[in-house]
Amino acid sequence: MRIDILTTFPELFSTTSPAVLGVSIPARAIKANILSVHATDIRAFTHDKHSKTDDRPFGGGPGMVMMCQPVWDAVLAAEAQDQRPATRILLTPQGTPLTQKIVEDLATKPRLLMLAGHYEGIDERVIEALDPIEISIGDYVLSGGELAALVLIDAITRLLPGATGDQLSPQQDSFGNVTIPPQSNKHQPTTQRLLDCPHYTKPRDWQGREVPPVLLSGDHTKIAAWRLQQRMQRTFVRRPDLLDE
Ligand code: SAM
Repeated sequence: MRIDILTTFPELFSTTSPAVLGVSIPARAIKANILSVHATDIRAFTHDKHSKTDDRPFGGGPGMVMMCQPVWDAVLAAEAQDQRPATRILLTPQGTPLTQKIVEDLATKPRLLMLAGHYEGIDERVIEALDPIEISIGDYVLSGGELAALVLIDAITRLLPGATGDQLSPQQDSFGNVTIPPQSNKHQPTTQRLLDCPHYTKPRDWQGREVPPVLLSGDHTKIAAWRLQQRMQRTFVRRPDLLDE
């Protein structure tokens, strides 16, 4: 997969410094050629002698608005660097709230282009012309779209084939699609997005708190049943909104 980011802060997407993309799974995916990340500096496309990418809003009011022309030219220049068509994404608090389902869908695309806004945002006319998918990472306002783009890149990367050692783990994590066995012969298996179960490691006893005995039993059928039961219980208590009727 190729990911392009359109930003006025390309240094935040360095793949060589030990920042977000230079460590852990993203760094390994980039090294293994599973992922490539290319940051395009919108400032390089301004016609302004001071490299201005923003101006005051029509109608008055506080803040600045990113101008159409540098954003448009930067997007077209980034897209021309690769023949694969890019799925355009605008990071915005007004977008569809990000879910694991959206992450899974985006992880199947050959190429993504992420547009990070700043200040009051981007002139609406260039958003209309680019017609991107609009994604929010939550109901709060960041000062810029770069952190939101990095969140999205990280969540997508761990789903790319070969990016993590254990291909099963994304399904076992929270929001993974779990197959729930039927309760009787009359029922069919169902799939359900569940939170993860609790995890434990050495020592067996820590400050008088013991590991649940079933996890030490060596009985893998019982362990799998306990984990599924914990996942269902946690989801029911913490996130009942995830449960289908
Ligand atoms: N005036 C805009 C509004 O209220 O909708 C907020 C602009 S915000 C200060 C600047 C930029 O940060 C946005 O253009 C967007 O790219 C990014 N941003 C802020 N909050 C975000 C969120 N929750 N999800 C994704 N991007 C966000």
